[in-house]
Amino acid sequence: MSSAPIPHAPSYYAAVTPPFGLRPALPGPAETDVCVIGAGYTGLSAALHLARAGRRVIVLDAARVGWGASGRNGGQLHTGQRRDQSTLEDWFGRDRAHRLFELAEEAKRLVKDLIAEHAIDCDWTEGLIHAIHKPAYLTPYAEEFEKLARDYRYEGLTRLDRDELAAAIGTEAYHGGWRDAGAGHLNPLAFAFGLARAAEAAGATIHEATRALGIRSGPRPVVDTDQGPVTADAVVIACNGYLAGLEPEVESRIMPIHNYILATEPLGERARRLIPGREAIADTRFVVHYWRLSADDRLVFGGGETYSRNFPNDIKTFVRRHLLKIYPDLAGARIDYGWGGTLAVTMNRMPLFARPRPGVYAAAGYSGQGIGLATFAGKLIAEAIEGDQSRFDTFATLPMGKFPGGKWLRYPSLVLAMSWYALRDRI
Ligand SMILES: Cc1cc2nc3c(=O)[nH]c(=O)nc-3n(C[C@H](O)[C@H](O)[C@H](O)COP(=O)(O)OP(=O)(O)OC[C@H]3O[C@@H](n4cnc5c(N)ncnc54)[C@H](O)[C@@H]3O)c2cc1C
Repeated sequence: MSSAPIPHAPSYYAAVTPPFGLRPALPGPAETDVCVIGAGYTGLSAALHLARAGRRVIVLDAARVGWGASGRNGGQLHTGQRRDQSTLEDWFGRDRAHRLFELAEEAKRLVKDLIAEHAIDCDWTEGLIHAIHKPAYLTPYAEEFEKLARDYRYEGLTRLDRDELAAAIGTEAYHGGWRDAGAGHLNPLAFAFGLARAAEAAGATIHEATRALGIRSGPRPVVDTDQGPVTADAVVIACNGYLAGLEPEVESRIMPIHNYILATEPLGERARRLIPGREAIADTRFVVHYWRLSADDRLVFGGGETYSRNFPNDIKTFVRRHLLKIYPDLAGARIDYGWGGTLAVTMNRMPLFARPRPGVYAAAGYSGQGIGLATFAGKLIAEAIEGDQSRFDTFATLPMGKFPGGKWLRYPSLVLAMSWYALRDRI
């Protein structure tokens, strides 16, 4: 029997985005070509690309379309992988590092192309500034970004000295920065809804309020759900930080982390003085502070994460502490929304692509860069199911360690490790 759907998080996005009407739960046992579990960017993009290729696709979500990180995130579309190119060259060699950068560029292009092609009304705004929070980071960042221009022919970057940066982001809290004209920001929930509409228009069927309980292997995999089984030729696991118990092989290689965002009241004219170019901003902290102006001139600010099971009781106060370190003048600004979401990271912060068993594909662990990488992962999964495994394998063959400590002990190990890096941000 179908229960009441789990509503979206009480975010600014959920309040302002025109709703995506509730899709009915799975009506009972079903058979299809591909069953996708999870209606975030990974699952919706896989569904869209598979349906376009003529496959029958059923998408299941335990809650709603965009209910997970895809509907709650900072909305920042970044350039490159989560790791810088120098590190990728050291780890994987020059050729593979170049290939990974090209794929990340394609991921960024894919998001922009999907927005244009499907007329997704998600306030896409070009421009993202990296703000450097420690003087010691100025030289390594300059070397990295100069390398991108020189070796990777990436032309979007402009250096900002301390004064130029302060003028661009309305605070003197940083030592210098870089503007990336090829990156940008959007309303993430509106983008998820747009992908869902595009997937349906291409022929996919979406069932909300339908939880996958397990996957049975066999000649054709079967997804058992709380509404009945779905038999398919292929199954896509697209649950990222919300995977919890569905596939142990994938789960052992990703770690769920909670991250938090607030949205101020509309700041009117003041907003335009804070960020005159309306870029998104991300700083260089290990626990990144990231922010941007919404279309209605609120500051949407993300900062602070936790590694325990529960969210803090008062998210607005939790994030506001971080906000006021950057913008003390906003002490009087009303905070209208505060919410949290769960993302997944991997040990080396590269995305995890896997085939945990025959006919079953998974991608997760985008480590904070899922707008581009998750959307692209969906496309690569579709390619793999259609028979071309090569680009899926570029990621699937990256070495990817398990988190130490097994299912239960990995939490304390992670908290220790993460707390150390977070401490380094402050010293
Ligand atoms: C606070 C926050 C800020 C972030 N900021 C950014 C940013 O600025 N830029 C960026 O690129 N990335 C950012 N990210 C990361 C990005 O949002 C994610 O990487 C991306 O959305 C992952 O997409 P997904 O489709 O893989 O997973 P999700 O969007 O998390 O979707 C997973 C879906 O699976 C469903 N599900 C789970 N289990 C089951 C089950 N058993 N049965 C059925 N359905 C199930 C869930 O209901 C959910 O809808 C942020 C994340 C958070 C939390």
